[in-house]
Amino acid sequence: MRDQPTAARDQAHAAPAPEADTARLIADDKAYVWHPFTQMADWLADEPLVIAAGEGSYLIDTTGRRYLDGVSSLWVTIHGHRHPVLDAAVRAQLDRIAHSTLLGLANVPAIELARRLVALAPPGLTKVFYAENGASAVEIALKMAFQYWQHRGEPQRTRFLSLQGAYHGDTLGAVSVGGIDLFHARFRPLLFPVLHAPQPYCYRCPLGKTHPACELACAEALGDLLAAHASEVAAVIVEPLVQGAAGMITQPPGYLRRVRALCDHYGVLLIADEVATGFGRTGRLFACEHEGVAPDLLVLGKGITGGYLPLSAVLTTQAVYDAFLGDYTELKTFFHGHTYTGNQLCCAAALANLDLFAQEDTLGRLQPKIARLAKGLAPFRALAHVGEVRQRGFMVGIELVADRATRAPYPLEARVGQRVCRAARERGAILRPLGDVIVLMPPLCITEDELEHLLAITYASIVEVTEPC
Ligand SMILES: *Cc1c(COP(=O)(O)O)cnc(C)c1O
Repeated sequence: MRDQPTAARDQAHAAPAPEADTARLIADDKAYVWHPFTQMADWLADEPLVIAAGEGSYLIDTTGRRYLDGVSSLWVTIHGHRHPVLDAAVRAQLDRIAHSTLLGLANVPAIELARRLVALAPPGLTKVFYAENGASAVEIALKMAFQYWQHRGEPQRTRFLSLQGAYHGDTLGAVSVGGIDLFHARFRPLLFPVLHAPQPYCYRCPLGKTHPACELACAEALGDLLAAHASEVAAVIVEPLVQGAAGMITQPPGYLRRVRALCDHYGVLLIADEVATGFGRTGRLFACEHEGVAPDLLVLGKGITGGYLPLSAVLTTQAVYDAFLGDYTELKTFFHGHTYTGNQLCCAAALANLDLFAQEDTLGRLQPKIARLAKGLAPFRALAHVGEVRQRGFMVGIELVADRATRAPYPLEARVGQRVCRAARERGAILRPLGDVIVLMPPLCITEDELEHLLAITYASIVEVTEPC
């Protein structure tokens, strides 16, 4: 079983490169590569790791050193690196064809995958539109919702409502519905205006209330916005249950259900962006399932291929799909597509990912690990600079604060989140913070021993940076 250390695959990983190669690669990286979300001045001053291989829950650098992949290679790895079933599926697809276009042609894995996704998704979602990344899929969902209302004879529905702190990707439409000022404020002149509802962030409630006495006042505020703009809003877009990039902000129970009810009441479409929460991250295949909610548009990405290849999808209802049907000259066509839409290699990996969920009972075996993670996180709450520990399934945010009593954040220049993650790297785990929130998002396949090790490294690294002796 895959919860045992991966003995068979232990033999196979790449031999470490000679030291000189590593030095040359690092020099060339610094010479030629511009890294995402990275202050390159810092990068140039530091010693980067060059990953050459992976195995199960580990990343392996060019010198052969192994690191626990504590954030699933940016939230995507599900069954581990170099899983034999996923590897074989991609190889088998390579023996047939890597890519042909979905514009004017169908292809085998794109068809099979669409059928499988529809069978697994919340009820009512019957059509699948593919793209290559989460941001593009968000653009598709926004444009579909916008055009839908034109065909429905309500062309004045042109606005979107999103949450403060929302993250939906880095393209301009996705940034428009985003709500993280650090990333988004600079681009405001390029963006379309959006209605922003207060963030369901109980630790720092924007309404100054306390849960559960608040009775979900944040959802009421969203309802008030919808009431005030009832005839103008095309869709509400939310990250269900957890606002990931905002700092793993976990929503109070009932919030998503209330948002769905408000959308129904005002006749507005609901877009659920499950790019981060989908494929088991919250303990169920999709986060919406926890609240018995079916959105009108479901956005999937990240874990859809088990972390192997770039693929995303928008699932929608028969009603949305049907609104686009008509004579060609009516121009009701959805004029949108990407060159690699429905790529066979990516869809083959996604099919193998779904096979593994069934074959390995990934979600069943995840439940005790979620409990173990919860237990392991309890001691963190006693640390002097841990403000809040948030967990939903295998999504964890540990919010570090300068002062626990006042909840005052650290100043930006203290770079506490970055320093904790750098300390973790020295101890053998790769983490990536969100500001001063330390994120844990291990691969779902991680063993309980590996999980304990990841927790021990994280704990020691937080203590080292926030309580230096
Ligand atoms: C990562 C993410 C996106 C963007 O996906 P990309 O593949 O990086 O474009 C969109 N929405 C959510 C909720 C995400 O976490």
